[in-house]
Amino acid sequence: MRVPLLDLQAQYATIKNEIRLAVDEVFESQKFVLGEQVDGLEKEIAGMCGVPCAIGVASGTDALLLALKAIGVGPGDAVVTVPFTFFATAGVIANLGALPVFVDIEESGFEMDPDRLSAFIERECEYRSAVGKLVHKSSGCTIKALLQVHLYGQCAEMDSILSIAGKYGLSVVEDACQAIGATYKDRPAGAMGDLGCFSFFPSKNLGGAGDGGMVITSNEQLGDRVRLLRTHGMRPKYYHSIVGFNSRLDELQAAVLRVKLPYLEQWSRARRQNADSYAKDFAAADLLSHVKIPAVLPHRSHIFHQYVIRCRMRDELQSHLKAQGIGTEIYYPASLHEQECFRYLGYTAADFPCSAAASRETLALPIYPELTDEQRRHIVSSIANFYRHQKI
Ligand SMILES: *Cc1c(COP(=O)(O)O)cnc(C)c1O
Repeated sequence: MRVPLLDLQAQYATIKNEIRLAVDEVFESQKFVLGEQVDGLEKEIAGMCGVPCAIGVASGTDALLLALKAIGVGPGDAVVTVPFTFFATAGVIANLGALPVFVDIEESGFEMDPDRLSAFIERECEYRSAVGKLVHKSSGCTIKALLQVHLYGQCAEMDSILSIAGKYGLSVVEDACQAIGATYKDRPAGAMGDLGCFSFFPSKNLGGAGDGGMVITSNEQLGDRVRLLRTHGMRPKYYHSIVGFNSRLDELQAAVLRVKLPYLEQWSRARRQNADSYAKDFAAADLLSHVKIPAVLPHRSHIFHQYVIRCRMRDELQSHLKAQGIGTEIYYPASLHEQECFRYLGYTAADFPCSAAASRETLALPIYPELTDEQRRHIVSSIANFYRHQKI
């Protein structure tokens, strides 16, 4: 039996006719950039997240770039984020000429540890109350924002993070690229900070037929700025008040995403059910001493973009599963502070022990909504077989 990590064909089979009709409609209109499909999707996602503004952009990476640019991040500024995330989170900070500064993740979760954030601020920053600025002492940069990643589809501990941000007057941007539909104490991911960013990369929970992204915000002024930034800072036509980008969501993507959006909740539910079933299967197979399953926290609902276990002999287990026809992935095998392009930041491998442990121990298993009971049982029994033969 083959079980891919993600089976987009299975999903497409269920909505093929709807997608084709929607795509045809766009071709018939011959309107491909910023038309009624993008407009409609923006309204639908704003409604779903309970915010007034949603702005479609070219990718999740651009959503982050434009969000940070909208709050004025540039040279001389620092943005605090985690080293255990997809590259784009920190890449956009550097691309704006600002300094990425890392704070480690929680020991038991995968999001920024609020206690470590407080400790970092007390140890390495100085609050200049006269100008209301938090200065990073070693670089002299002004800490402008906290960029919070809701990794794998579970929100960071936002109440603590927002209260720290409030104390020092920092903006909060949410990298909710993996977390559309997740909630924290019933507040939607992306709608808690100043701006939230989504990705519609095909493998995300709400995936398009190519690249796409969206910024959401409750702050109309910031929303308007993102809107201006995505079309070269141009308003009215051919008059440019600020230097922006060309970063628009196109109509074909929006049309596909509008077909999929009404299914998102049921897909998230199916992912959660798969996670519950994994938990039962792992317990029944007596695997919980070898495999640590994701902690499901009552106020941080999980949409399981990825189902990530921590396990012993991770690389060997991955090879074993591959030989059994089971797709897995390591998100991410190296933390960002270890990347060659960020060597100039001067971190050492030992600086972020929780991120380092996560890089060594994590493995993402198939969790997509269409995964069958039979496939899931095959995965769990293959894992059980592996550990049975290790005698550990
Ligand atoms: C996917 C992703 C991005 C980037 O989104 P793209 O649409 O691929 O540009 C950024 N951050 C995180 C955490 C992601 O998972």
